[in-house]
Amino acid sequence: MLDGPEFNLSLPVVSDASSTEVSDTVTAAPREKRRLPKWLKRPLPQPGMYYTDSVIQDLKLETVCESAKCPNRTECWSQQTATFMILGNVCTRPCGFCSVPKGKTEIVQLDEPARVAEAAERLGLKYVVITSVTRDDMADGGADHFYNCVLAVRERTGAKVEVLTPDFMGNRDAISRVIESRPDVFNHNTETVPRLYHRVRRNAEYQRTLDLLAQIKEEAPDMPTKSGIMLGLGETTEEVMDVCADLRSVGCDMITIGQYLQPSGVHLPVERYLPPEEFDEIGERVRALGFTMVASGPFVRSSYHAGEMASEHETTTTPIL
Ligand code: SF4
Repeated sequence: MLDGPEFNLSLPVVSDASSTEVSDTVTAAPREKRRLPKWLKRPLPQPGMYYTDSVIQDLKLETVCESAKCPNRTECWSQQTATFMILGNVCTRPCGFCSVPKGKTEIVQLDEPARVAEAAERLGLKYVVITSVTRDDMADGGADHFYNCVLAVRERTGAKVEVLTPDFMGNRDAISRVIESRPDVFNHNTETVPRLYHRVRRNAEYQRTLDLLAQIKEEAPDMPTKSGIMLGLGETTEEVMDVCADLRSVGCDMITIGQYLQPSGVHLPVERYLPPEEFDEIGERVRALGFTMVASGPFVRSSYHAGEMASEHETTTTPIL
């Protein structure tokens, strides 16, 4: 658990017409508003948070920290780190877990790469994570814009860059374009087990995600790859283990495993809050599959402590001379 003062989040848990499928191993959440378990506490904001906020506002940037209502925002922003979300703040996919607005997308701003780079510089970031909304309305899904953002950040700051991309509808040319920008880590989330895709991640395909990760290793075998999965949506542990084995089979190097939290009453309800010890146990089992880095815990998110994770990966894979 984190040091320092903490506050407890309280989120509404309501029924969802689409959530009729319940695993035989989970406990359904009650339908009334309830407090989160005691282990789900977060630190209060520190002064650095306001500086991060001012830089983001000043440069008119979007972050997934805010748009996805990430529970780690006070911690990360207080440490002057954030995950930039490019290509607008409106997504073309109706994923049931995500609070990023859906609907009519925004015009791509050609100066966004320069603004992201400036923010990285002002925040003094040595490791920058760039993600985006899904842009199925664009021919390349926004891949070229990703490319420009990675280059702009690297050129201006010399920082390492991790991309956390959508699946580009499996468009191999688009994926190649992002690979060409040579990100230090290529991250693409699996999000959940295949049985729950239609409910959690509509318009995505499990195999497409595996294919994307496989393509990175085909084209750039040395490029570290990473994926993430949320727990508490109705999956079983064995299904999670199967997903992790599939990820290893396409050479995925690192994995993040965290607790799903319902961002609002209209999103999918939490089926179960896993205690930290269970995350530890799952993490141990997953580690045995051969990932170089496994982060497993209630507050783990794709970009949580991403720089540390990448550097641990590097240490693990660098031969001792
Ligand atoms: S974990 Fe990632 S998305 Fe969440 S606040 Fe930290 S940097 Fe932002």
